[in-house]
Amino acid sequence: MTLSESGWYRYRVGTEEGPFAQASNFSVAISQARNIRDLRHRKYGQPVYVSSDHPLARKGQTATWEKFNVRLAVVKFEDGAVLGYDPADLLLPTRFDNGKPVFEVRACELCRAAFTLTQGEVEEKKEPTRCPACLEF
Ligand SMILES: [Zn+2]
Repeated sequence: MTLSESGWYRYRVGTEEGPFAQASNFSVAISQARNIRDLRHRKYGQPVYVSSDHPLARKGQTATWEKFNVRLAVVKFEDGAVLGYDPADLLLPTRFDNGKPVFEVRACELCRAAFTLTQGEVEEKKEPTRCPACLEF
């Protein structure tokens, strides 16, 4: 077994064991993809956290991703409402807990944009203080 294979094996075991197991193969935030814009393989029904404040009443609610409509990501809320958002405003869960998405959301200290922590960052207590865009500076 090569080094990279053993690393991959550890990663697979770590993500599939215990209470942090992913539900129904929906995606969780990783350092390369924390919102649905950055997610390569999107699945109908993917749980997301709405970080946009338009409209304000929906900010901080969770919804499920349905499809893309031109440049908007269309999501459905639990009450049946359907709205379109910039896909960068739809955050991925940090983890799933008994099948329920859990969102550990932080605000960037520079631009105040919301972003989700990854499970690794929560476990290692290494929370970034800036959003991915501001970290690139
Ligand atoms: Zn920022």
